[in-house]
This record gives sequence, C-alpha cells and structure tokens, in this order.
Amino acid sequence: MDHNFKRILIVEDEEKIVEFIESYLTNSGYDVYKAYRGNDALRLFNTHAIDLILLDLMLPDISGEQICREIRKTSTVPIIMLTAKSQEESILNGLDIGADDYITKPFSPRQMIARVKALLRRAYADDKDSEVLSFNDSDLIINETDYTVKKAGEFVNLTPSEFKILITLAKRPHKVFTREELIHVAFDGDYLGFDRTIDSHIKNLRSKIEDDPKECRYVLTVRGIGYKFGSD
Ligand code: CA
Repeated sequence: MDHNFKRILIVEDEEKIVEFIESYLTNSGYDVYKAYRGNDALRLFNTHAIDLILLDLMLPDISGEQICREIRKTSTVPIIMLTAKSQEESILNGLDIGADDYITKPFSPRQMIARVKALLRRAYADDKDSEVLSFNDSDLIINETDYTVKKAGEFVNLTPSEFKILITLAKRPHKVFTREELIHVAFDGDYLGFDRTIDSHIKNLRSKIEDDPKECRYVLTVRGIGYKFGSD
C-alpha cells in the first residue's frame, strides 16, 4: 500500500527557524505541522498522527522537557531535541526522559534532514516486516502486500475504502483517530464524502470482520471522538 508522507511536527517559538526547517522538510517530501507554543504542540500531537517531533527545549509556555515527558506517557513517537550548544545539562536530561536524539543550533539543513531520515528509518524499521498484520491468534490477518484480509481462516472481500480504513487503524492499535484524521490518513485527501460517511464504511467493515458487530473487538467506537483499533 502506498503510504503517504511522514508527518513531522516542529515545536519551536522562533519563526525564522521554523520557516527554515519547514522549507527543507517540505522539499524532502515530509508533511509539516508547526507549533510555536508548547500547548499547541500537545494539541496537534493529540489530534494528528504525527510520525516524528522536532522539539525546541526553550519555549515560552511549557518547556520542551515537559512536553517530552507528557508525550512519553502515551507514545513512543521519535523525538529530536533542538538545543543550544551550551545546554549540555538539558540535552542529557532530555535523553533521560525519552528524547531519541538532539541537534545543536545552528545546524545545517543537510545535517537536520540526515538525522530525521536516520531516526525515521530506525523507528519504523519494523514497518516493512509488518506487511502481514495478525491479531488474536490469526483470527484476523491483514496482508498489506496483496490487499487481502482473512477472518477466522476465510478470505473476506473488503472494498478499497474499507481496506484503507482497516489498515490505517490496525497499524496504530489503540491510537484514537477522529473521523477527519482517519480520512486524512487513510485516503490522503483523496476522499469524496463527508466526515460522517466514514461511518457507513465502518459499519460495513464491521459486518465483515467482527464476530458480533454489536460487541466489536477490532474497530472500536470512541464516543464523541472517533475510532480506534482494539486487539488483545
Ligand atoms: Ca526557543
């Protein structure tokens, strides 16, 4: 399946640096999200399927360390700290609380892109091997290479939309997707319909892969928010 661009969140209060980083990341094919304040960073992170964070440590509201700590409570998303050379203590502390890497300012665009690429490769190395996703002792098997799905040993026929929704959810078990986000990630902007029409796809998908669509095991509703994948 054609996976869309990795989503990178830049958290930095200096607009010039943000613009600089953004232009190079965009040119390298990444999807860029920007936060100038810590609160915005957490909000964006919680509402978008972010794949990597570039995190400045000195922010006007919440410190980068606090953001890192907060995110690590629920996520292993790769985090690269942006630091000043003099911040050796902060760097060590940041790595201690779960940041993966750091870049000291000023940095060259090439250096930054190389670090981003390297970390993404490391963090998502398993993605290639996970072309076959299997859940609950092979009760549900999703094969990303040939677009097939088996439920309790039998092939089930999913429409392309149903398949895209299923694989998007299944690759991030327990992550809650809003309808909007699900459409964005699964269809990459190539979706005709309203947010709510996603519900009919979900309904049909459930009738095909759930033992009991009233007691869903895989495609779970998160009331008032959207959907998530559940696996034991
Ligand atoms: Ca700063």
